Amino acid sequence: MSEYKTIDDLGDLNGKVVMLRADLNVPMNDKFEVTNTARIDRMVPTIKELMSKGAKVVVTSHLGRPEGKGDMANSLTHIVKDLEKSLGKRVVFVDDCIGPHVEQAIKHMKSDEILLLENLRFYKEEKKGDENFAQELVKNVDIYVSDAFSTAHRDHASMVAAVKLRPSAFGRLMEEEVNALSKGLNNPERPLMAVVGGSKVSTKLDLLNNLIKKVDKLVISGGMAHTFMSASGIKNITEKNSLVQTDMLDTAAEIMKAAKSNHCEIILPKDVVIAEEFKPNAKHETVDVNHIPDNSWSLLDVGAKTIAAINAAMDDCKTLVWNGPLGVFEMKPFDTATNAVAAHAAELTMEGKIISVAGGGDTVSALANAGVESKFSYISTAGGAFLEWMEGKELPGVAVLKK
Ligand code: AMP
Repeated sequence: MSEYKTIDDLGDLNGKVVMLRADLNVPMNDKFEVTNTARIDRMVPTIKELMSKGAKVVVTSHLGRPEGKGDMANSLTHIVKDLEKSLGKRVVFVDDCIGPHVEQAIKHMKSDEILLLENLRFYKEEKKGDENFAQELVKNVDIYVSDAFSTAHRDHASMVAAVKLRPSAFGRLMEEEVNALSKGLNNPERPLMAVVGGSKVSTKLDLLNNLIKKVDKLVISGGMAHTFMSASGIKNITEKNSLVQTDMLDTAAEIMKAAKSNHCEIILPKDVVIAEEFKPNAKHETVDVNHIPDNSWSLLDVGAKTIAAINAAMDDCKTLVWNGPLGVFEMKPFDTATNAVAAHAAELTMEGKIISVAGGGDTVSALANAGVESKFSYISTAGGAFLEWMEGKELPGVAVLKK
């Protein structure tokens, strides 16, 4: 991790006021109770480490998409209890993220407590990346630690401008995430396989165009495979029974051609599971892609031959990056292929034969459904940031911390 600044580069933290840009954007129910504390729990080690080094920690974050300052539904006050529980320390909440209340609170901070500031996005200047707002934010702090990887694709004031105003570094979570993703795509052990599934080709064009330049084998499955299958001459794939995008057939063909000239092998479905209805446990059967019947039922998953082909191809690989489910994993039994390939990847990972990195949107729940969450080398909880990283884009919140 020599390329980026980490907490180890910050020198003596004793007595210093450290602002920690966290991602505490947690899901809540309609009673404003946190329904999944993963993001809080994962942030706590960085806070504890900073405190153990004698720093006074001031935590700042966004939550949701507030419509202005009075939007209490998105107030970070709702997470105080959970943060205290996870941290085992008192959390003092400040009802603003800049201004005199913050200044006073920092002045009166005790060493065994932390401050949690109100939602950054209560100020529209945050999203605009406003320099003056960033100045206000860091006004009373000595050091700035950025630990919100899931927002690193945004050029927001707390992600970029503020980082430049103080001695700064990645938090441990950001460090872990960037390390894992670098192993996945930037400096992978080869052969490198990517599995891309999900719904529509149109949403993943940048991703596919980047992957064909970087990976040795590219599995395309899920709804987005339907366009590729149709473009490669497979019959009876229609807008009625699949997610084929007929306006993208030429694009799919171009991607396949470009893959070939980049020596990237594309692995498409060999068989598909067709279902009479789009609902759990619908009547279904598996057919070879060359035998999809006229007026076929809906294509909801890929079949056993495809699973075997993907798994066999994976056996030869040293690194796997994965985004998107292979079928409609939310409905049984159409999660079969996703589960089977995930189980194989998990097994290879546990045996030390492969490094497996996954993430982005539904991938986390698809892999949780497969029961492999803890058996992958790394599963990123960042949605947009993970995808942009896989698309080969430089994330402003990461780039700003280059040494
Ligand atoms: P994405 O957000 O693009 O990764 O897409 C995830 C969604 O793709 C999930 O909700 C899946 O149910 C859906 N999906 C995957 N395979 C199919 C398929 N064969 N037909 C329809 N939807 C699918």
